[in-house]
Amino acid sequence: MNIDSDTKLYCLIGNPISKSLSPMIHNLIFQLNSMNAKYLAFNIDNAEYLEKAVDGIRALGIGGFNITIPYKIEIMKYIDEIDEKAKILGAINTVLNIDGKLRGFNTDGDGFVKSLRDREIDIKDKKVALIGAGGAAHSIAVSLAFEGIKELVIINRTTQNAYKLKKLVEDVFPNIHINCYEIGRETSIPKDIDILINTTPIGMYPDVDSVPISPRLFSTSTIFYDIIYKPQKTKWILEAEKLGCKTFGGLDMLINQAIYSQKIWNKSLMNDSIDWNYIKGEVLKNIINSLQI
Ligand code: NAP
Repeated sequence: MNIDSDTKLYCLIGNPISKSLSPMIHNLIFQLNSMNAKYLAFNIDNAEYLEKAVDGIRALGIGGFNITIPYKIEIMKYIDEIDEKAKILGAINTVLNIDGKLRGFNTDGDGFVKSLRDREIDIKDKKVALIGAGGAAHSIAVSLAFEGIKELVIINRTTQNAYKLKKLVEDVFPNIHINCYEIGRETSIPKDIDILINTTPIGMYPDVDSVPISPRLFSTSTIFYDIIYKPQKTKWILEAEKLGCKTFGGLDMLINQAIYSQKIWNKSLMNDSIDWNYIKGEVLKNIINSLQI
Protein backbone atom coordinates (compact mmCIF):
# COMPACT_ATOMS: atom_id res chain seq x y z
CA MET A 1 0.00 0.00 0.00
CA ASN A 2 1.49 3.36 -1.08
CA ILE A 3 1.58 6.34 1.22
CA ASP A 4 -0.34 9.32 -0.17
CA SER A 5 -2.20 12.38 1.10
CA ASP A 6 -5.14 10.23 2.23
CA THR A 7 -3.03 7.86 4.34
CA LYS A 8 -4.37 7.78 7.89
CA LEU A 9 -1.78 7.70 10.66
CA TYR A 10 -1.96 5.78 13.97
CA CYS A 11 0.82 5.47 16.51
CA LEU A 12 2.26 4.20 19.77
CA ILE A 13 3.72 6.41 22.47
CA GLY A 14 5.84 5.21 25.38
CA ASN A 15 9.39 4.82 26.63
CA PRO A 16 11.13 2.58 25.66
CA ILE A 17 9.32 1.50 22.51
CA SER A 18 12.19 0.01 20.48
CA LYS A 19 11.20 -3.62 21.25
CA SER A 20 7.47 -3.08 20.76
CA LEU A 21 5.68 -5.49 18.43
CA SER A 22 2.78 -3.04 17.94
CA PRO A 23 4.05 -1.38 14.69
CA MET A 24 4.50 -4.79 13.05
CA ILE A 25 1.10 -6.10 14.25
CA HIS A 26 -0.92 -3.00 13.34
CA ASN A 27 0.72 -2.38 9.95
CA LEU A 28 0.10 -6.01 9.02
CA ILE A 29 -3.57 -5.76 10.04
CA PHE A 30 -3.93 -2.58 7.91
CA GLN A 31 -2.27 -4.32 4.97
CA LEU A 32 -4.38 -7.49 5.26
CA ASN A 33 -7.55 -5.35 5.35
CA SER A 34 -6.34 -3.22 2.38
CA MET A 35 -6.53 -0.04 4.46
CA ASN A 36 -4.70 3.13 3.51
CA ALA A 37 -3.21 3.54 7.00
CA LYS A 38 0.16 3.36 8.73
CA TYR A 39 1.28 2.90 12.35
CA LEU A 40 4.46 4.42 13.81
CA ALA A 41 6.09 4.29 17.25
CA PHE A 42 7.16 7.49 19.03
CA ASN A 43 9.47 7.41 21.99
CA ILE A 44 8.63 10.16 24.50
CA ASP A 45 11.64 10.20 26.77
CA ASN A 46 10.40 12.94 29.06
CA ALA A 47 6.94 12.98 30.71
CA GLU A 48 6.92 16.77 30.32
CA TYR A 49 6.36 16.27 26.57
CA LEU A 50 3.31 14.07 27.05
CA GLU A 51 0.74 16.88 26.93
CA LYS A 52 2.45 18.45 23.88
CA ALA A 53 2.45 15.06 22.15
CA VAL A 54 -1.29 14.68 22.77
CA ASP A 55 -1.88 18.23 21.43
CA GLY A 56 0.15 17.31 18.34
CA ILE A 57 -1.93 14.18 17.79
CA ARG A 58 -5.10 16.32 17.98
CA ALA A 59 -3.69 19.02 15.70
CA LEU A 60 -2.44 16.57 13.05
CA GLY A 61 -5.61 14.50 13.04
CA ILE A 62 -3.83 11.25 13.90
CA GLY A 63 -6.70 8.73 13.94
CA GLY A 64 -5.81 7.02 17.18
CA PHE A 65 -2.93 5.79 19.30
CA ASN A 66 -1.74 3.23 21.80
CA ILE A 67 0.02 4.02 25.03
CA THR A 68 2.56 1.76 26.68
CA ILE A 69 4.77 1.98 29.77
CA PRO A 70 5.28 4.30 31.59
CA TYR A 71 2.39 6.54 30.48
CA LYS A 72 -0.75 4.37 30.69
CA ILE A 73 -1.96 6.20 33.82
CA GLU A 74 -0.50 9.69 33.38
CA ILE A 75 -1.93 10.12 29.87
CA MET A 76 -5.48 9.95 31.25
CA LYS A 77 -5.46 13.58 32.38
CA TYR A 78 -5.09 14.73 28.76
CA ILE A 79 -7.94 12.60 27.39
CA ASP A 80 -11.48 14.01 27.07
CA GLU A 81 -13.54 10.92 27.82
CA ILE A 82 -12.63 7.58 29.41
CA ASP A 83 -14.50 4.34 28.82
CA GLU A 84 -16.16 2.74 31.89
CA LYS A 85 -13.78 -0.25 32.26
CA ALA A 86 -10.66 1.87 31.79
CA LYS A 87 -11.97 4.34 34.37
CA ILE A 88 -12.34 1.56 36.94
CA LEU A 89 -8.87 0.17 36.44
CA GLY A 90 -7.31 3.62 36.09
CA ALA A 91 -5.17 3.06 32.98
CA ILE A 92 -5.64 3.27 29.21
CA ASN A 93 -3.78 1.69 26.29
CA THR A 94 -5.90 2.90 23.34
CA VAL A 95 -7.19 6.33 22.29
CA LEU A 96 -9.61 7.22 19.51
CA ASN A 97 -9.43 10.71 18.01
CA ILE A 98 -12.65 11.99 16.49
CA ASP A 99 -12.26 15.59 15.25
CA GLY A 100 -9.92 16.43 18.11
CA LYS A 101 -12.04 14.79 20.81
CA LEU A 102 -10.04 12.00 22.45
CA ARG A 103 -11.67 8.91 23.97
CA GLY A 104 -9.61 6.44 26.04
CA PHE A 105 -10.02 2.66 26.41
CA ASN A 106 -8.15 -0.32 27.79
CA THR A 107 -8.16 -3.40 25.55
CA ASP A 108 -5.74 -5.68 27.47
CA GLY A 109 -8.33 -7.42 29.66
CA ASP A 110 -10.80 -7.81 26.79
CA GLY A 111 -8.04 -9.37 24.68
CA PHE A 112 -7.45 -11.88 27.47
CA VAL A 113 -11.16 -12.74 27.86
CA LYS A 114 -11.58 -13.11 24.07
CA SER A 115 -8.97 -15.88 23.93
CA LEU A 116 -10.90 -17.86 26.58
CA ARG A 117 -14.18 -17.31 24.72
CA ASP A 118 -12.61 -18.42 21.43
CA ARG A 119 -11.85 -21.79 23.04
CA GLU A 120 -15.35 -21.91 24.55
CA ILE A 121 -14.15 -21.62 28.15
CA ASP A 122 -16.99 -20.47 30.37
CA ILE A 123 -15.97 -17.71 32.81
CA LYS A 124 -19.25 -16.94 34.56
CA ASP A 125 -19.37 -18.05 38.22
CA LYS A 126 -15.82 -19.41 38.05
CA LYS A 127 -13.10 -19.26 40.70
CA VAL A 128 -10.12 -17.51 39.12
CA ALA A 129 -6.64 -16.94 40.56
CA LEU A 130 -4.23 -14.23 39.43
CA ILE A 131 -0.52 -14.49 40.17
CA GLY A 132 0.65 -10.88 40.20
CA ALA A 133 -1.16 -7.62 40.91
CA GLY A 134 0.45 -5.18 38.44
CA GLY A 135 -0.91 -3.42 35.35
CA ALA A 136 -1.84 -6.55 33.37
CA ALA A 137 -3.45 -8.15 36.44
CA HIS A 138 -5.58 -5.02 36.93
CA SER A 139 -6.89 -5.12 33.34
CA ILE A 140 -7.59 -8.86 33.50
CA ALA A 141 -9.26 -8.67 36.95
CA VAL A 142 -11.66 -5.91 35.85
CA SER A 143 -12.57 -7.68 32.59
CA LEU A 144 -13.14 -10.95 34.47
CA ALA A 145 -15.35 -9.11 36.96
CA PHE A 146 -17.44 -7.76 34.07
CA GLU A 147 -17.75 -11.37 32.82
CA GLY A 148 -19.33 -12.44 36.14
CA ILE A 149 -16.68 -14.53 37.91
CA LYS A 150 -17.71 -15.68 41.38
CA GLU A 151 -14.39 -15.72 43.25
CA LEU A 152 -11.01 -14.08 42.74
CA VAL A 153 -7.77 -15.17 44.40
CA ILE A 154 -4.85 -12.74 44.15
CA ILE A 155 -1.38 -14.18 44.79
CA ASN A 156 1.38 -11.58 44.83
CA ARG A 157 4.91 -10.95 46.08
CA THR A 158 3.85 -7.70 47.77
CA THR A 159 0.58 -8.47 49.55
CA GLN A 160 -0.12 -4.74 49.95
CA ASN A 161 -0.42 -4.48 46.14
CA ALA A 162 -2.73 -7.52 46.11
CA TYR A 163 -4.99 -5.81 48.67
CA LYS A 164 -5.04 -2.61 46.57
CA LEU A 165 -6.29 -4.61 43.57
CA LYS A 166 -8.84 -6.41 45.79
CA LYS A 167 -10.24 -3.06 46.94
CA LEU A 168 -10.43 -1.68 43.40
CA VAL A 169 -12.49 -4.68 42.22
CA GLU A 170 -14.58 -4.99 45.40
CA ASP A 171 -15.63 -1.33 45.31
CA VAL A 172 -17.36 -1.89 41.95
CA PHE A 173 -18.24 -5.60 42.25
CA PRO A 174 -19.08 -6.21 45.93
CA ASN A 175 -20.54 -9.66 45.17
CA ILE A 176 -17.21 -11.13 44.04
CA HIS A 177 -15.49 -12.98 46.87
CA ILE A 178 -11.78 -11.95 46.89
CA ASN A 179 -8.86 -13.33 48.92
CA CYS A 180 -5.18 -12.36 48.80
CA TYR A 181 -2.07 -14.51 49.38
CA GLU A 182 1.66 -14.08 49.32
CA ILE A 183 3.54 -15.80 46.50
CA GLY A 184 5.89 -18.46 47.88
CA ARG A 185 3.51 -19.49 50.72
CA GLU A 186 2.01 -22.29 48.67
CA THR A 187 0.44 -24.21 51.56
CA SER A 188 -2.13 -21.50 52.29
CA ILE A 189 -3.24 -20.97 48.66
CA PRO A 190 -6.60 -22.60 47.70
CA LYS A 191 -6.17 -25.48 45.23
CA ASP A 192 -9.71 -25.66 43.75
CA ILE A 193 -9.03 -23.01 41.08
CA ASP A 194 -10.86 -23.10 37.73
CA ILE A 195 -8.50 -20.73 35.88
CA LEU A 196 -4.99 -19.86 37.13
CA ILE A 197 -3.28 -16.90 35.42
CA ASN A 198 0.36 -15.88 35.63
CA THR A 199 0.70 -12.11 35.15
CA THR A 200 4.20 -11.84 36.63
CA PRO A 201 7.37 -11.86 34.48
CA ILE A 202 8.48 -15.11 36.21
CA GLY A 203 9.48 -17.50 33.40
CA MET A 204 9.89 -14.74 30.78
CA TYR A 205 13.03 -14.81 28.57
CA PRO A 206 15.85 -14.92 29.74
CA ASP A 207 14.49 -16.26 33.09
CA VAL A 208 13.12 -19.34 31.28
CA ASP A 209 13.82 -21.93 34.04
CA SER A 210 11.59 -20.30 36.67
CA VAL A 211 7.93 -21.06 37.43
CA PRO A 212 5.67 -18.82 39.54
CA ILE A 213 4.04 -21.69 41.45
CA SER A 214 4.10 -25.47 40.94
CA PRO A 215 1.23 -26.67 38.68
CA ARG A 216 1.26 -29.96 40.64
CA LEU A 217 -0.49 -28.20 43.54
CA PHE A 218 -3.68 -27.84 41.49
CA SER A 219 -6.27 -30.18 40.05
CA THR A 220 -5.90 -31.43 36.47
CA SER A 221 -9.14 -29.60 35.67
CA THR A 222 -7.44 -26.25 36.39
CA ILE A 223 -6.84 -24.19 33.24
CA PHE A 224 -3.37 -22.56 33.16
CA TYR A 225 -2.94 -19.23 31.37
CA ASP A 226 0.49 -17.58 31.17
CA ILE A 227 0.34 -14.09 29.64
CA ILE A 228 4.09 -14.22 28.91
CA TYR A 229 4.72 -14.65 25.15
CA LYS A 230 8.50 -15.00 25.07
CA PRO A 231 9.01 -17.96 25.18
CA GLN A 232 5.80 -18.91 23.44
CA LYS A 233 5.39 -21.75 25.98
CA THR A 234 6.93 -21.05 29.37
CA LYS A 235 8.29 -23.82 31.61
CA TRP A 236 5.14 -23.37 33.72
CA ILE A 237 2.89 -24.04 30.72
CA LEU A 238 4.97 -27.05 29.63
CA GLU A 239 4.71 -28.53 33.16
CA ALA A 240 0.94 -27.98 33.24
CA GLU A 241 0.61 -29.61 29.79
CA LYS A 242 2.50 -32.67 31.07
CA LEU A 243 -0.13 -32.99 33.82
CA GLY A 244 -2.83 -33.02 31.12
CA CYS A 245 -4.18 -29.52 31.88
CA LYS A 246 -5.64 -27.10 29.34
CA THR A 247 -3.18 -24.23 28.76
CA PHE A 248 -2.86 -20.80 27.12
CA GLY A 249 0.22 -18.73 26.25
CA GLY A 250 0.32 -14.91 25.97
CA LEU A 251 0.43 -14.44 22.18
CA ASP A 252 -3.32 -14.75 21.65
CA MET A 253 -4.03 -12.02 24.23
CA LEU A 254 -1.39 -9.79 22.60
CA ILE A 255 -2.96 -10.13 19.14
CA ASN A 256 -6.54 -9.83 20.45
CA GLN A 257 -5.87 -6.58 22.30
CA ALA A 258 -4.41 -5.09 19.09
CA ILE A 259 -7.48 -6.20 17.11
CA TYR A 260 -9.73 -4.55 19.74
CA SER A 261 -7.75 -1.28 19.30
CA GLN A 262 -8.18 -1.50 15.53
CA LYS A 263 -11.93 -2.04 15.90
CA ILE A 264 -12.15 1.03 18.16
CA TRP A 265 -10.32 3.11 15.52
CA ASN A 266 -12.14 1.73 12.48
CA LYS A 267 -15.74 0.71 12.80
CA SER A 268 -15.54 -0.87 9.31
CA LEU A 269 -13.52 -3.67 10.93
CA MET A 270 -16.60 -4.74 12.93
CA ASN A 271 -17.88 -6.21 9.65
CA ASP A 272 -18.63 -9.94 10.09
CA SER A 273 -17.22 -10.80 6.66
CA ILE A 274 -13.60 -10.18 7.82
CA ASP A 275 -11.70 -13.44 8.32
CA TRP A 276 -10.03 -12.66 11.64
CA ASN A 277 -8.78 -16.24 12.04
CA TYR A 278 -6.73 -15.85 8.87
CA ILE A 279 -5.46 -12.40 9.94
CA LYS A 280 -4.55 -13.69 13.43
CA GLY A 281 -2.68 -16.60 11.85
CA GLU A 282 -0.64 -14.24 9.64
CA VAL A 283 0.14 -11.92 12.58
CA LEU A 284 1.16 -14.92 14.70
CA LYS A 285 3.58 -16.16 12.00
CA ASN A 286 5.21 -12.71 11.82
CA ILE A 287 5.54 -12.41 15.60
CA ILE A 288 7.08 -15.86 15.86
CA ASN A 289 9.57 -14.93 13.12
CA SER A 290 10.49 -11.59 14.63
CA LEU A 291 10.81 -12.89 18.21
CA GLN A 292 12.49 -16.10 17.03
CA ILE A 293 10.39 -18.16 19.42
P1 NAP B 1 3.89 -4.82 36.28
O1 NAP B 1 2.81 -3.81 36.30
O2 NAP B 1 5.28 -4.40 36.54
O3 NAP B 1 3.49 -5.98 37.34
C1 NAP B 1 4.33 -7.08 37.58
C2 NAP B 1 3.73 -7.99 38.67
O4 NAP B 1 4.59 -9.13 38.79
C3 NAP B 1 3.65 -7.35 40.05
O5 NAP B 1 2.55 -7.88 40.72
C4 NAP B 1 4.96 -7.80 40.70
O6 NAP B 1 4.84 -7.96 42.11
C5 NAP B 1 5.14 -9.17 40.11
N1 NAP B 1 6.56 -9.54 40.00
C6 NAP B 1 7.49 -8.94 39.22
N2 NAP B 1 8.67 -9.57 39.35
C7 NAP B 1 8.49 -10.58 40.24
C8 NAP B 1 9.34 -11.58 40.79
N3 NAP B 1 10.62 -11.68 40.44
N4 NAP B 1 8.81 -12.45 41.69
C9 NAP B 1 7.52 -12.36 42.04
N5 NAP B 1 6.64 -11.43 41.55
C10 NAP B 1 7.13 -10.55 40.65
O7 NAP B 1 3.93 -5.58 34.87
P2 NAP B 1 2.72 -5.87 33.87
O8 NAP B 1 2.58 -4.74 32.91
O9 NAP B 1 1.54 -6.28 34.65
O10 NAP B 1 3.31 -7.09 33.00
C11 NAP B 1 3.59 -8.33 33.62
C12 NAP B 1 3.93 -9.41 32.59
O11 NAP B 1 2.84 -9.57 31.68
C13 NAP B 1 5.15 -9.11 31.70
O12 NAP B 1 5.84 -10.32 31.54
C14 NAP B 1 4.55 -8.66 30.39
O13 NAP B 1 5.39 -8.96 29.28
C15 NAP B 1 3.30 -9.52 30.33
N6 NAP B 1 2.20 -8.91 29.54
C16 NAP B 1 1.68 -9.64 28.50
C17 NAP B 1 0.63 -9.10 27.77
C18 NAP B 1 0.04 -9.89 26.62
O14 NAP B 1 -0.68 -9.29 25.80
N7 NAP B 1 0.28 -11.17 26.53
C19 NAP B 1 0.10 -7.84 28.09
C20 NAP B 1 0.65 -7.13 29.16
C21 NAP B 1 1.70 -7.69 29.89
P3 NAP B 1 4.98 -6.75 43.17
O15 NAP B 1 3.60 -6.18 43.34
O16 NAP B 1 5.50 -7.41 44.38
O17 NAP B 1 5.95 -5.77 42.56
